[in-house]
Amino acid sequence: MKYYSTNKHAAEASLQEAVVMGLAPDKGLYMPEKINEMPQDFFDGIQDLSFQEIAYRVADAFFGEDIEADTLKKIVYDTLNFDAPVVHVEDNIYSLELFHGPTLAFKDVGARFMSRLLGYFIDKQGQKDVKVLVATSGDTGSAVANGFLGVEGIHVYVLYPKGKVSAIQESQFTTLGQNITAIEVDGTFDDCQALVKMAFRDEELNKKRNLTSANSINVARFLPQSFYYFYAYAQLKKQGKANDVVFCVPSGNFGNITAGLIAKKMGLPIKHFIAANNRNDIFLQYLKTGEYNPRPSVQTIANAMDVGDPSNFARILDLYGSSYEKISGEITGFSYTDDQIEQIMRGTYNRTGYILDPHGACGFQALRDGLDRGEVGVFLETAHPAKFVETVEAAICSKVDIPEKLQAFMKGKKKSVEMKNDFAEFKQVLLS
Ligand SMILES: *Cc1c(COP(=O)(O)O)cnc(C)c1O
Repeated sequence: MKYYSTNKHAAEASLQEAVVMGLAPDKGLYMPEKINEMPQDFFDGIQDLSFQEIAYRVADAFFGEDIEADTLKKIVYDTLNFDAPVVHVEDNIYSLELFHGPTLAFKDVGARFMSRLLGYFIDKQGQKDVKVLVATSGDTGSAVANGFLGVEGIHVYVLYPKGKVSAIQESQFTTLGQNITAIEVDGTFDDCQALVKMAFRDEELNKKRNLTSANSINVARFLPQSFYYFYAYAQLKKQGKANDVVFCVPSGNFGNITAGLIAKKMGLPIKHFIAANNRNDIFLQYLKTGEYNPRPSVQTIANAMDVGDPSNFARILDLYGSSYEKISGEITGFSYTDDQIEQIMRGTYNRTGYILDPHGACGFQALRDGLDRGEVGVFLETAHPAKFVETVEAAICSKVDIPEKLQAFMKGKKKSVEMKNDFAEFKQVLLS
């Protein structure tokens, strides 16, 4: 399968090229040239298939031309060695819990898949010394570092701003050792991102070393996110609840919801989508006015959605031929302030006992505000509430249990390379 750039200037790429490059040379995002529909018999029997079986069938529709069946199957089965249960919360609203992976956030799915696929391509090329660079404000670094942990031939450098990520987040990428190096930069997240960009432009580094990035726009992180929409549907079908399903996605860069739009194009019967935002509501304003006006992000308690110019908007435009009518017909939107998010977490906990994280809280409430009679709503619970323990405990006035997996990270010994915000120093680390 070929991949084209949403900007349409760069040449088409093979899967391998698209995965290794990440962003197309014309700065567009790669898209698969065709979105294959799944056959009817797949949907007829989907309620009896496991998460891994469903995911492999969907993965085959994208990647089957480019990867041998047994290899692809192994990559999918290794990636999804955890469940993604659909849990009833209240009335006709269900939570798709995507936090049962190693770092307790949905990004585990894409990061684990990408690391295994890149490992496969590197092995095929006989390469040995590939360096993956990733700048993080918290969640991405942990998913990528854990996804690549122990993958042969790859060394990961996680750059993060000193003192600006939570202790829990920091423990998830500084305690791993092996092929993971955490670099603690005396600066901001933007400084970390700038250092990574400079590395990709540096001639000497690119001549000597094989650099690649694991950012969220990579097709190998983006497309696997469609797997769990099918699996959620299967679980609802088993309970006889699969008519008129609405998916609601707490959105930042809009990669997660775009993977859902792709699942629908593959034939998954989804009635429509709701995008839930915090105060960074650029997409909601687009739905209201037809105009897309990016603006600097503001900080909120649902910080993984603090995005002022969602990168996957380009993919949404591409999927619908830039038609505002089509996009606003498929997706509706809601946004919530920090005060509202706290109230949603508290109210839901008091009424139902279910503990939402700040991102899932936006998704849950958008279903309460947006579902029509007779519809069944599923919101994507994108992270475990314990990842935001202070915020959640303050909101619900109760203790949050920290899962074993998270406790284990926190017991590990922190190891990091401290660095000034200085490219020469960063380059030295990469060359050493
Ligand atoms: C990354 C993230 C989001 C936003 O996902 P996008 O694909 O960028 O829209 C939402 N919630 C959590 C917990 C995240 O880590």
